[in-house]
Amino acid sequence: ADLVGLDNLVANTAYLKAQQIDRTELRKQRLTLTLPRPKKTSALRTAVGRKYEPLCEQQPIGRKLFQQFLLTSNPTYRAAYEFLEELNAWSFAEDETKEKAKQGILTKFCQPESKSFLSYLTGSDAETCRCLSSTNFDEENLEQIGEATREFLKGKPFLEYLSSPFFYRFLQWKEYEAQKITDRYFYEFRTLGKGGFGEVCAVQVKHTGQMYACKKLDKRKLKKKGGERLALLEKHILEKVNSLFIVNLAYAYDSKTHLCLVMDLMTGGDLKFHIYHLGERGLRMERVVYYTAQITTGILHLHAMDIVYRDMKPENVLLDGKGQCRLSDLGLAVELPQGKMICQKAGTSGYMAPEILKQEHYRTSVDWWALGCSIYEMVAGRLPFKDFREKVQSDEVTRRTLEDECKFMHKNFDAPTKDIVGRFLKKRVGIRLGCRNDDPRNHVFFKNISLHRLEAGLVEPPWVPKPNVVYTKDTAEFRDSSEVKDIQLNAKDEKFFKEFSTGAVSIQWQKEIIDTGVFDELNVPKLDGRDCETSWK
Ligand code: ADP
Ligand code: MG
Ligand code: MG
Repeated sequence: ADLVGLDNLVANTAYLKAQQIDRTELRKQRLTLTLPRPKKTSALRTAVGRKYEPLCEQQPIGRKLFQQFLLTSNPTYRAAYEFLEELNAWSFAEDETKEKAKQGILTKFCQPESKSFLSYLTGSDAETCRCLSSTNFDEENLEQIGEATREFLKGKPFLEYLSSPFFYRFLQWKEYEAQKITDRYFYEFRTLGKGGFGEVCAVQVKHTGQMYACKKLDKRKLKKKGGERLALLEKHILEKVNSLFIVNLAYAYDSKTHLCLVMDLMTGGDLKFHIYHLGERGLRMERVVYYTAQITTGILHLHAMDIVYRDMKPENVLLDGKGQCRLSDLGLAVELPQGKMICQKAGTSGYMAPEILKQEHYRTSVDWWALGCSIYEMVAGRLPFKDFREKVQSDEVTRRTLEDECKFMHKNFDAPTKDIVGRFLKKRVGIRLGCRNDDPRNHVFFKNISLHRLEAGLVEPPWVPKPNVVYTKDTAEFRDSSEVKDIQLNAKDEKFFKEFSTGAVSIQWQKEIIDTGVFDELNVPKLDGRDCETSWK
């Protein structure tokens, strides 16, 4: 037993140390790294397309290079860019900072004699801009000018960017992004959890130092249990998602034995652990409201893409190192065909909505029911239709779900909480909160949270995990017992593994490159307006 404890200690130490990596040391190791020259430039140009949003807004490196282009081109482009930046800063600021930001915008961009006057505005947009003043500074007018600025950038500036060295530099990054990913790309650390087809462990990208969680799916186990199609489905949904409140996918690759999904590392443990394992059952109301706001935002993001999560429960909500939460385990999620309903029974007992239990057709309504159950559980440390540690058949839980009223016995249920849970637990879909094209975040339950700031990840978490604590079970508890030997992999399997192993996911990969400083290091020699022509031909 002592040796097992020692193993765990050693594994934890290495894992915690990796998270405090010495960045200057890594930087030295990267000195020899250079950006590749695209071999087939025109094919790459075709592949990345010519759409403004993905190239200049959604992809972080594309966004950076477009900004650098604007800043070095001419005073008008620079003004347009700076205006959007300062408008953004103003919209998130509070109190005095907000007042300062407003004065800054007025003097810099709205006075015709200023160098940064928004001279590209025409017609009513120009009129609106001239009429802005400290007493007339309303959100709608600013939005109009912001929108006009974006429209301006999408025109001539964007076209010029596409034939500038900045865009060639972007293609170089895209070439780099497309590199083949293998298990040699990462260091591997301790196991963090166990799933149906293998374990989840912590990994670190060797040349950037970025930490991730890697969900490893055993190829033979997948084949034996018929999980191949499901694995591909989970990967397909994960790579479409890009939200601060959902665990995002950064890489998908395969090793000899496993399919690997590399995702945001969540070091703070899951909400079930926090509800039941740390002292008293249940969470403080401040935490319940905060997590619920983030979860709701995550669910809305999925629903906006016609995806039903179907596995909403505290166990699937993970905390990161800062105390913010994300939805994880999209293994039960499905994409809904446009306008269609589905009726497949799926979910976890205790969280399944009446319409699933009755095998009726359903769409996104089931997630709101499960969220109602989860809020109840965060407050009371039990489920609405199943007590803590109660030994009860799932048939009985089904009966109670369909017939019983939800009762609020716990002392922490205040009026807004009872109201929101009650509205999520309406047995009839037609009157349930979230099911009538309404945004549940408008409920008074969330009155103390600024949604605009929450969506940008700017609201301080009410609880922060301790940096030197590993919020999961000891490594020994995840030891794998079963090995599959009687399964042979054939060409058809290999074809499927290839389909799965698409390597880096653009947005997450580019974020990593920027956050770890690699972008600034490799983006030399500096591109300025002058050496444009020469450097890219
Ligand atoms: P399965 O779909 O097979 O149940 P999960 O995706 O739920 O697999 O992962 C299994 C366990 O691994 C989870 O319960 C959790 O403890 C841990 N885990 C999963 N994803 C992460 C992550 N991104 N960061 C940290 N731990 C994770
Ligand atoms: Mg799971
Ligand atoms: Mg799963």
